[in-house]
Amino acid sequence: MNNRLYGNLIFELSHPGRRAYSLPENKFGSYEVPADMRRAADAALPECDELTVVRHYTNHSANNFGVNNGFYPLGSCTMKYNPAIDEEIAAMPEFANLHPLQPADTCRGALDVYEGLQRSLSEISGLAKFTLNPFAGAHGELTGLMIIRAYHERRGDLKRTKVIVPDSAHGTNPASAAVCGLDVVEVKSTPEGIVDVDDLRSLLDDTVAAMMMTNPNTLGLFEKEIPEIAELVHGCGGLMYYDGANLNPMLGVCRPGDMGFDVMHINLHKTFSTPHGGGGPGAGPVGVRKGMEDLLPGESEISVGPYHGNFAVLLRAYAYILSLGKEHIKEVGPLATLNANYIKESLKDVYHLPIDTVCKHEFVFDGLEDKSTGVTTMDVAKRLLDYGYHAPTIYFPLLFHESLMIEPTESESKDTIDGFIDVMRRIAEEAATQPEVVKSAPHNTPIGRVDDVLAAKHPVLTYRQMDTQE
Ligand SMILES: *Cc1c(COP(=O)(O)O)cnc(C)c1O
Repeated sequence: MNNRLYGNLIFELSHPGRRAYSLPENKFGSYEVPADMRRAADAALPECDELTVVRHYTNHSANNFGVNNGFYPLGSCTMKYNPAIDEEIAAMPEFANLHPLQPADTCRGALDVYEGLQRSLSEISGLAKFTLNPFAGAHGELTGLMIIRAYHERRGDLKRTKVIVPDSAHGTNPASAAVCGLDVVEVKSTPEGIVDVDDLRSLLDDTVAAMMMTNPNTLGLFEKEIPEIAELVHGCGGLMYYDGANLNPMLGVCRPGDMGFDVMHINLHKTFSTPHGGGGPGAGPVGVRKGMEDLLPGESEISVGPYHGNFAVLLRAYAYILSLGKEHIKEVGPLATLNANYIKESLKDVYHLPIDTVCKHEFVFDGLEDKSTGVTTMDVAKRLLDYGYHAPTIYFPLLFHESLMIEPTESESKDTIDGFIDVMRRIAEEAATQPEVVKSAPHNTPIGRVDDVLAAKHPVLTYRQMDTQE
C-alpha cells in the first residue's frame, strides 16, 4: 500500500485533464444557464483517474477508528453495543424508502414499530408515555424542560425558574436549562461523589422548577439518596428530571419512574445501538409520568421537530430491545458493572482513584498515581493510540484535574479487557522509566501529536487556506 502517494490530499494528486468518470453522450439537447447564475471561473476541483480516487479514499477510510476496529472505552458518551443486525434492519428498503407524509394505511408496519418502541421505553423506564421526536440527548433535555416549564405555567405558578444541577453533570444539562430560559443553580457533590443533600436543602424554595439528575452520575456512581432527594424536591413543588443518556447499567434492574422521577430522556444512540461517532445521528426520546402525558409534543403546544423523529435510529433501538428480550436485557447492567469494576480494581494501584467505591458502568481515575513523572492524562491518552486503543474520555468530569473516564461496556470479552489493562499498566511503567516516550506520543499514527491550541485558534479547513498559509 503506497500510503505516501494515496494519503496525500486529493488536490495534490490532481493533473489537468485526468478523469475518473465520463458522462454519457448528451442525447437530450442543452439548456443555457442564465449568465447571471454562471460561475466567473471554473470551480477548482481535483482531476484524477479512477484508481487514484478509489485508493485515496479507501486508504483514508482505513485510518478511521471505530468499535469494529478495536476497544473503545470512551466513558459516558460511548456506544454500548451496536449489533450488525440492527444496521441491516435499518437499511431495509421497506423502512428506508418511507416518506414521512405517506398516508398511515400505507405504512402500518412503521407505525407499529413506533408504538412498540414507545411502549417498550415506558416499560423499561416506568414512565407513562414517550415522545420519540427529539434528535439527541441535549434535544431531549430541552424538550423535557419545556414540558416542565409548561407544567408549572399551566398551574399558574410563574415564579418557578430555577433548575438545580449537580456539579458533576454533563455540560448539556445546564446548557439546556439556559436555552429554555431557566436559571441554573449548582448543587455540590459530597467527597463520595454523589449529590450533597445538605447543600441541596439550602437551595430549595418555591422558585424551583426542577432538579436534574444523572444516574448513575458522570462518575459512574449510583445516586443512593434519590428517594430523599425526590421527596425534598417534590416537597417544595419542583419536578424531578432524569438524564438517562447512559441507561445500560439500569436496564431491567431498576426504573427512574419507580424512583420518583417525573420526566426523563434516553439516548437511544448510546444505550440502544446506533453508531454515533462524530456527533450523530441520534435520538433522545422523552418520557413523562402519569398525569403529564398531555404535555408531550404532539399532545400540547410544544413542538420540537418535524414528523416522527430520527426513524432509522428508533428502528435500531426497537430491534435491539426485541433481540435481547425481557430476559436478556437484564444481563446488560450487571455485565457493564462487572467489566467496569474489574478494570478499576486492576489498575487502581497505578492510576489514582479519587473515589474508591463500587461503580456502575464507568469510573474516573485522576491521572497516574505517581505524579512525579510529569506524565499527564493527555499523554496517557495519546500513548494508548500507539497500542491500538481508542482513548477514554479525558478531562471530564471537571471535578478532577486529570480525569480519565473509562467505560468498557457490557459487550467486551475478558480477553479484550485484560489486553487493555496490560497496556494501561505498561504505559504507567513507561511513565516512570521513559517518560519522554509517553509525553511525545503518539508515534505510530498517521499524524503525531497535534497542537490543540493552534488547531483551535487557526483551523485550516480548506485546501485553499492551506495554500495561502504556505
Ligand atoms: C451524551 C450525554 C448527554 C447529551 O447527549 P447528546 O445526544 O450528545 O446530545 C447528556 N447527558 C449525559 C450524561 C450524556 O452522557
